[in-house]
Amino acid sequence: MTAMIIDGKQVAADVVETVKAATADLVSATGTVPGIAVVIVGEDPASQVYVRSKGKKAEECGFHSETYTMPADTSESDLLARVAELNADERIHGILVQLPLPDHIDEGKVIQTIAPEKDVDGFHFINVGKLGTGELGDAFVPCTPAGSMVLLRRALGKGDLSGLGAVVVGRSNIVGKPMANLLLAANATVTIAHSRTKDLPALCRTADILVAAVGRPEMIKGDWVKPGACVIDVGINRIDAPERGEGKTRLVGDVDYAGAAEVAGSITPVPGGVGPMTIAMLMANTLASACRSAGVEPPSY
Ligand code: NAP
Repeated sequence: MTAMIIDGKQVAADVVETVKAATADLVSATGTVPGIAVVIVGEDPASQVYVRSKGKKAEECGFHSETYTMPADTSESDLLARVAELNADERIHGILVQLPLPDHIDEGKVIQTIAPEKDVDGFHFINVGKLGTGELGDAFVPCTPAGSMVLLRRALGKGDLSGLGAVVVGRSNIVGKPMANLLLAANATVTIAHSRTKDLPALCRTADILVAAVGRPEMIKGDWVKPGACVIDVGINRIDAPERGEGKTRLVGDVDYAGAAEVAGSITPVPGGVGPMTIAMLMANTLASACRSAGVEPPSY
């Protein structure tokens, strides 16, 4: 079998088109312009790239977008005060504090200070709790697992996963746990695996849906994949690529793509799979927040 390739770039572009159209409708019907504020502390170059691309995408969607760049020695209280101002700002519907924060700032405290109804990253305990209890109606779901679910639905052609077994490898709060909760809410039978799991290859072979969120390049091999399974590879790992020339690198996932693609029914590539979905879902979450504030039903994807 050769797997169907799930084109995350295309699906992300579709999501952004839907967001743009719904934004235009929201503005003309209610005058509400979705607003996003991104706060970055320090000068980490990778974080700056992410923040710039979030700002550009927000403008492309027709949002009001603000970026606050604060120096690396910003005090925790100054950052909390900035978050409080944004909580109170009616033009802002989504607040995102770029992680990681410098060591002297308590990340948890900052995240829990963001108003839950503006927490478009979905990290506030209120949103985590809603997802955990299956109260998905107005919960913000973290963007990477939310995007992975959109890809899964496109690949399987359905949102109800009744009767399907899912294995999620990884139990982080950002990816593994919310992904498992989303799969459970969609009626899959879910197992979460991690570094202490015994005989991971055998467990993976039972999965109709296999989600890899490990952070170890190409760890999951083709012969760990059940024939016909849907494989969602969340991993993004940069490895040396001497075949491309001295000092060159390339991106790979947590799954051995070539091996798995021979066995799987469908699979996300890296790059071009889950990666582009994260920012698209951030836009979707911000639009949803603006829609809710205006009493309008947000679109589904
Ligand atoms: P993380 O916080 O480091 O969590 C990794 C998880 O993998 C942990 O639960 C860990 O288990 C488990 N693990 C590590 N080694 C293992 C092994 N040998 N066997 C089984 N499980 C093992 O990572 P994360 O933030 O969830 O990210 C996971 C991957 O997704 C990374 O490659 C990251 O770059 C990527 N990512 C991509 C996006 C995107 O936009 N596409 C967004 C976020 C993350 P323990 O809990 O037992 O330690």
